[in-house]
Amino acid sequence: MITLPVDAHLPELVERLRGAQSLVLQAEPGAGKTTRVPPALLPLISDDKLVVVLEPRRLAARMAARRVAEEMGTRVGELVGYQVRFEDVVSAATRVKFVTEGVLTRQLAQDPNLSRVGAVVLDEFHERHLQTDVALGLLARLQRSTRRDLKLVVMSATMDAGPVARFLGDCPQMKVPGRVFPVEVEYAAKEEPAQNPRPLERQVADAVRRLLEQGLDGDVLVFLPGAAEIRAARAACTTLAQQHDLLMLPLHGDLTPEEQDQAVRPSRKRKLILSTNVAETSVTIDGVVAIIDSGLARIAGHASWSGLATLKLGRISRASATQRAGRAGRTRPGRCIRLYTRHDHDTRPEHTPPEVKRMDLSETALLLHGMGERDLAAFPWFETPDASQLQAASSLLRLLNAVTPEGVLTPTGKDMLRFPLHPRQARVLVEAVARGFRDEGCVVAALLGEVDIWASERRGLSTTTRSRKKDVHGSDVLAAWEAFETARAGNFNPRDVEALGLDPGVVSRVERVRKQLAGIARNVNPPRQGASDEDTALGMAILAGYADRVAQRRKGPAARADVPEFLLATGGTARLAPWSQVADSPLLVALDAEDRTGGKQDGVRISRASAIEPEWLLDVVPDALQDSVDVEWNAQAQRVDCFSRLRLFQLVLEETRVDHSDDPRVAETLAKAALSMGVAAFCDPEELEHLRARIGTLREIMPELGFPSLDDNALKDAMRRHCEGRRTIAELKEVSFVDTLVAELTPAQRQALEAQAPQSIRLPGGRKCTVHYVAGQPPWVESRLQDFFGMREAPRIMNGRQKLNMHLLAPNQRAVQITDDLAGFWQRHYPAIRKELMRKYPRHSWPEDPVTATPPQPGQRARSS
Ligand code: ADP
Ligand code: MG
Repeated sequence: MITLPVDAHLPELVERLRGAQSLVLQAEPGAGKTTRVPPALLPLISDDKLVVVLEPRRLAARMAARRVAEEMGTRVGELVGYQVRFEDVVSAATRVKFVTEGVLTRQLAQDPNLSRVGAVVLDEFHERHLQTDVALGLLARLQRSTRRDLKLVVMSATMDAGPVARFLGDCPQMKVPGRVFPVEVEYAAKEEPAQNPRPLERQVADAVRRLLEQGLDGDVLVFLPGAAEIRAARAACTTLAQQHDLLMLPLHGDLTPEEQDQAVRPSRKRKLILSTNVAETSVTIDGVVAIIDSGLARIAGHASWSGLATLKLGRISRASATQRAGRAGRTRPGRCIRLYTRHDHDTRPEHTPPEVKRMDLSETALLLHGMGERDLAAFPWFETPDASQLQAASSLLRLLNAVTPEGVLTPTGKDMLRFPLHPRQARVLVEAVARGFRDEGCVVAALLGEVDIWASERRGLSTTTRSRKKDVHGSDVLAAWEAFETARAGNFNPRDVEALGLDPGVVSRVERVRKQLAGIARNVNPPRQGASDEDTALGMAILAGYADRVAQRRKGPAARADVPEFLLATGGTARLAPWSQVADSPLLVALDAEDRTGGKQDGVRISRASAIEPEWLLDVVPDALQDSVDVEWNAQAQRVDCFSRLRLFQLVLEETRVDHSDDPRVAETLAKAALSMGVAAFCDPEELEHLRARIGTLREIMPELGFPSLDDNALKDAMRRHCEGRRTIAELKEVSFVDTLVAELTPAQRQALEAQAPQSIRLPGGRKCTVHYVAGQPPWVESRLQDFFGMREAPRIMNGRQKLNMHLLAPNQRAVQITDDLAGFWQRHYPAIRKELMRKYPRHSWPEDPVTATPPQPGQRARSS
């Protein structure tokens, strides 16, 4: 075995880990972390336990296992094994097991105590995959509780070791010193990528040619984003490689282990290795002297619409670019050609943010709930996700009926957890199984994980060609399912696949996932019902996973006839992509959509849909439906309307007008409208003011009667009561508001109102005289002077407590005096006024002693001249 930089430090590492639970190790790529540390941990753990090594990629896990097995002189699957998705190469003898994230997380879910594991190594921690963060939290907690003996090693070439060591209770840190040689970086591109017309593979070939021309004396490592780009670059470099006797070797996850090993193994010829970012830190190839960096990678993310995982072409960070360049400077100075501009490089982010900060968390959340975690905010996160991310995950899981509002897994959630899928897909599959369509459900769930199964040419088909196929299923997914099944029946004969218009790469991925799902689905509970036909059951299953993505075709005057528009359950509108088969459906689930706001055709475009029937909602997501009676003011009809509505989030699925006159909101709504018109609109305003003044005076003079206030607020309250049992403004106007106010008084108050604050009094001659009330002033009466003959004192009301002010009028209706002191008037002013009046109105009688005089009877009075 060759000596690696890490070797000299292994005794110290083992010693320090013997006295601690955890250790953080930092060493350059190629130092021997992955291949040397895991076997070195075996003496630290008991014989019946394993060392589990978490690798961020399948390829890394597989290669590391093969390498370590080889170095130990055994075969893979014996002492050293690996387990990744779709592949399990371990045996009872295995003591060192390399795994990928999904495998470790599932192991933690099945056996939270990790009873068969003695040590866990988290390799390449700087990648900060979501599940690695989760594993770190779970393992740290496990070490604090039941597994104090569990050893944990966190390794990376580039990470900042401090925070992890602190998170692990200030555990020891080790740094293996490494030597890096300078790498001369040049930028090949003159234009920004958007302007650069030269295909990537041509740019690669150009760079290789330049390296050859300038004297290449070692291997070249080319970083490309994926297998397709690698194939293209390989084709573009073939002639060049032949001319210069280069050995061209691809390196990516879809190759056979032998092909992968070949890329890494030393060779007599100079190698031209075309690799994905696995060679960035996971795999070290000795002899590399030059790097060609496309600056691109497939970066894990999620579709913003569905939350399902995506792998999108993206620009790597500056930190990654530095790592890539560094692969040429391990043993001697090297060079690196970047196929982009310096400006492009300098404007990139320093680091790609960790997944925990940017990814859909629902799958992780389901897993954690499955492990008994109730409150995900309380989980020991290495880096806490944003509250909004956790919130989104929780509400989706509740909608899918996977967890209760208390954060406890439901039986449905338990079934979902068996599948290594996003919770939406898992829910679809579980529902399909429950409805008796297990195998079909596996295909549909696998198809949902792919953006599109159709070959790109088919996407380009004109809408007329496609429209001929319309209404086959009313579902884009089920159409794809049918095509896939046809291909499967023909054993995926390439000619069939092509004739069906399917993308062979996607078809094989779907088939691989389908097989895995089918294996798991076999153990899921038998169907609870199986009455419906295939399309209905699968349509319902799809709905179960996407109930928040229901869209309703817009009706009514706002709708456009040419392009159907859909209202989305979460708000807003969307159009359907022209290739969709379900354009005619009034209700559908939008499985994929993109927001194209800002582009030429703005707005949300639904790119994949599946029609649904309204009744399915009641069957599949009854809890998401909301029944309500809405009370609304109809300004045009001047009335309150009540509607009974059935809603799914923001969509109104059903609406009927109902009579809900006893609903308190009806009166409230009517009152609000009435008050905005003003109370005076509902009675004679003068009459109202009169009543308010009478009661106002009574409240002041006779507080013991307990009259209520009639201030503005009290009137508003009274108007609300006035509205009770009424629904329209017209009804409200049928009864005077003043009558309502009076009716609200007690009988005693009503009686007192008439007795103590009379509307009129009778003067000695029998004449009825209106009493005027004004708030804050004494009430007053007005009549001719003669009418007051026979009175000694001013009349009093309110049990004699309130004198009335008298407006004494001459026969011409002019006031001769305003007074509440009648005796004083008779005595001091009357004699003089009398003379004057006698002269002006000789036909009237102006007695000398008005107190004893008889006033004229009503009707007898002389007219003024
Ligand atoms: P690290 O994890 O620190 O990056 P590794 O343990 O993966 O380092 O690799 C250490 C060294 O072992 C590498 O520099 C490389 O030379 C060699 N090596 C690892 N795997 C292989 C392999 N499959 N074939 C040939 N050499 C290998
Ligand atoms: Mg490594």
